[in-house]
Amino acid sequence: MQIEFEFATATRIIFGEGALRQVAPAAKQWGRRVFIVTGRAPERADQLRADLEAGRAQCFAFAVEGEPTVDLIARGLERARERQCDVVVAMGGGSVIDAGKAIAALLTNPGELMDYLEVVGKGNALQNPAVPFIAVPTTAGTGSEVTRNAVLGVPARQVKVSLRSPLLLPRLAVVDPELTLGLPPAVTARTGLDALTQLIEAYVSIRSNPVTEGFCVQGIPLAARSLRRAFHHGLDPGARREMSLAALFSGLALANAGLGVVHGFAAPLGGRFPASHGAICAAILPYGMEINLRALRARAPQSDALRRYQEVARMLTDRADASAEDGIRWTRDICLELEIPPLKAYGIQEHDVAALIAEAAKASSMKGNPLALTPEEMREVLTRSIRGSDE
Ligand SMILES: [Zn+2]
Repeated sequence: MQIEFEFATATRIIFGEGALRQVAPAAKQWGRRVFIVTGRAPERADQLRADLEAGRAQCFAFAVEGEPTVDLIARGLERARERQCDVVVAMGGGSVIDAGKAIAALLTNPGELMDYLEVVGKGNALQNPAVPFIAVPTTAGTGSEVTRNAVLGVPARQVKVSLRSPLLLPRLAVVDPELTLGLPPAVTARTGLDALTQLIEAYVSIRSNPVTEGFCVQGIPLAARSLRRAFHHGLDPGARREMSLAALFSGLALANAGLGVVHGFAAPLGGRFPASHGAICAAILPYGMEINLRALRARAPQSDALRRYQEVARMLTDRADASAEDGIRWTRDICLELEIPPLKAYGIQEHDVAALIAEAAKASSMKGNPLALTPEEMREVLTRSIRGSDE
């Protein structure tokens, strides 16, 4: 067996409480005009800004509200170009980090975003290295701080597409669990369940290998024992630390192993409906697992993914005798406890299913699924995630 692992990750990762203070000294090596991308509460970056200014950097702020779109990236890019910024720091959730990645890369590449976007744009390859980019996640979810794509919305086409290039990888990822202390329970739930979904999908992926497995077998138990605690006790530093690590591992695993049916559906759903990525993934996860398991037993009984689903169940339940079904039950229970609504809560209806199946079948994440699902099976995954019942 050949193992391939591309170090498709941020060049350097600093993890730990207080790591935020490492951003300014790193930025100082690379430039003096810093473009700071934040979420809708820019004051959360006050400490960062003070540190940068104490090191004589000039700072220019840009706030991303909601998920990033092509227009928003164009506005940010224009501002960063005008100010001649030579470093980009993004401090926020996955959306903010993805916006920062795109702006940092386009600052050094000619033309506009559409020239480089897949599916809806020309899909040209980025040519020049981005300006140095530092990613500082404030949620424990996407793992975007270590991956090489940025997910951007194109509202006119009702899709979300990726800008992809190894040149998008952050120069530095600073993961400081203290930044996630006190995140609202709903945000903790959906981001944490996204990380857990990514760990499970990467673990059972047909592209998984012993290197990516290492991240998953470390990450799944961390999320399993800390997600409830982080949800109910948002100021628990131990739970927040473990969730930040789990999210980081999920990004490291998926960048090499890929994902599966849950993320395959998340791509088209996220472009058409006003639901966050994590909430969509969480609502689909139990059904994606159940139908994958059934299909594997019927058509690929020799598949190693069957053993892996059982292993997932052991890690989730912390019980050596857990069956794969116990793992599915565990995910269903945690979605209930963390108040994840079924997809119908976002206006997704059963007459949308056919079009969504066709789009999901083309999604790049689908290629990692442990086996190819039939259209009927895909329909069942989505219909049950919409209804959220077990009939
Ligand atoms: Zn995800």
